[in-house]
Amino acid sequence: MDLSTSMRTDMCGRLTAADAGRTVSVCGWVATRREHGENLAFIDLRDRTGIVQCVVNRSHDLRSEYVAKMTGQVRLRPDDTANKDLPTGEIEIEITDIEILATAEPPPFPLDERTDVDETIRLRHRYVDLRKNRMQHNLRTRAAVNSAIRRGMEEQGFVEVETPMLIASTPEGARDFVVPSRKEPGSFYALPQSPQLFKQLCMVGGIDRYYQIARCLRDEDLRADRQFEFMQLDAEMSFVDQEDVFTAISHTVASATEAVTGVRPTEFPRITWLDAQERFGSDKPDTRFGMELVELTPIFEGTEARVFQAPCVKGIRMEGGMEALSRNQIDALVETCQRWGAKGLAWMKVIDGESGPALDAGVAKFLSADESTQLVTALDAKPGDMVFLVADERRLVRHVLGLLRLELGRPPVNEGGLNFLWVVDFPLFETINDAGKPVPAHHPFTMPHEDDWALLDESGEALLDVRSQAYDLVLNGWELGSGSIRINRPDIQNRIFELLGIGEEEAQAKFGFLLDAFRFGAPPHGGFAFGIDRIAALLVGETNIREVIAFPKTQSGSDPLTDAPSAIDAAHLEELGLRVLPPAT
Ligand code: ASP
Repeated sequence: MDLSTSMRTDMCGRLTAADAGRTVSVCGWVATRREHGENLAFIDLRDRTGIVQCVVNRSHDLRSEYVAKMTGQVRLRPDDTANKDLPTGEIEIEITDIEILATAEPPPFPLDERTDVDETIRLRHRYVDLRKNRMQHNLRTRAAVNSAIRRGMEEQGFVEVETPMLIASTPEGARDFVVPSRKEPGSFYALPQSPQLFKQLCMVGGIDRYYQIARCLRDEDLRADRQFEFMQLDAEMSFVDQEDVFTAISHTVASATEAVTGVRPTEFPRITWLDAQERFGSDKPDTRFGMELVELTPIFEGTEARVFQAPCVKGIRMEGGMEALSRNQIDALVETCQRWGAKGLAWMKVIDGESGPALDAGVAKFLSADESTQLVTALDAKPGDMVFLVADERRLVRHVLGLLRLELGRPPVNEGGLNFLWVVDFPLFETINDAGKPVPAHHPFTMPHEDDWALLDESGEALLDVRSQAYDLVLNGWELGSGSIRINRPDIQNRIFELLGIGEEEAQAKFGFLLDAFRFGAPPHGGFAFGIDRIAALLVGETNIREVIAFPKTQSGSDPLTDAPSAIDAAHLEELGLRVLPPAT
């Protein structure tokens, strides 16, 4: 694309040997400056495309990060000074005219990619940080993802509809950010946790296929993959089952991936939630590596070994673990597993026995010969491996071994390819709370699995077996997003509210407008949302989504650049009818 303007003829990073002899003007920031006496300087000028070497044969006033327009003739660098690592490394510009467009204070930190700079300082001066190659690349990649998402959705007949930011609360289950109303002091708007209810209203409104690249706000503790505000592709479709949703979303995710990597992913395998838990100990399995959890419970039925007398025993095998792990590391792993909730972690070395691989050390001495043999076979253990076993309640075993599996085998973010995975048949309820009520795993409009509708008449623990028509898309162990087929039958919706203990009045107060709308003809519908920050981070190989967000908050939720959140003055508070209490002591 031609990026020339009235001020520049060319972009710094695009000049090549083919331009030798041309007189060009480039504009940008002074990246580096090498002075050779008073009358010769090599200046690297930087713009969004990269850097070019400018040769200045006289004294000059340029300093680091000054903004300048440089004009001169492109010439080939003498052979021995060419830099093969740089796209513009074969040429330089012999400068005849320098125009300083803006002076600059010395940058608060070096802009090379090698120096590790404290994140708060980077964010305080984000406008300088954004000049780095890495940030330029990340933000451009993100823009390519957005644009491919739009194309992918539009190709499939989705209509972009914008929904409001100042709304009543939504049902995602996190804490709302609220905005006080000046017109009605004492009343508050909520900022949307997602456009959930509005997209369902769009379906009642006959939009048929809705999408939006939507900003969502949730007041939750922040993590590497979580910010207060994040962007998601939000979509909803009418007259569909979950297969239709998978097809539409897989198409768009494939387009976004292809836009960045040049390769269109074709594999979007499925796994049930239960299988994912049993085999990977997680509802978001990273399938770039094996090390699956192996079911060992039957082997220990009637065992003499006290540690394995438990409702569930599972194990994982680490190939070559004997060499990879020191004794200190193993002890640390045991402690870590205890922190995760396990009573202990049983570990054994696999050695060359008289008749094939055998277990040695650790708790192996408590096992009967038969148990040992069965273990070796079940785990497919080879000499040199290490095996780790946890015995406890089933959920706990899965949880701890799932985390241990990641600890021992997870490849770095940018290795091992991109493994997409649909996780299906989520349970409708996560747990039963102290009051004996089920806690929904998703929002209360999630349709239960058709085969499990009869189970809704049950109560207590039996409800945990109800599956839902909810699904997640996982990429390399990160939950990219989730969605569901929604309830459009009043009898089922009422039963769910009843189970959750949401009375008629509460339902009316919280979602009355949606329930009202459903009385006017709601088509069967379902949808999905996936996080753009997350997919962009994984596609550029970053482990922290802040690296693909232009102006993120720090881990503690503040913005060192604008100083948000900050106090507002007394008059403003008065107008809003608010009084601030002194901090609780
Ligand atoms: N509203 C859900 C979310 O933002 C996604 C969905 O169910 O479509 O997580």
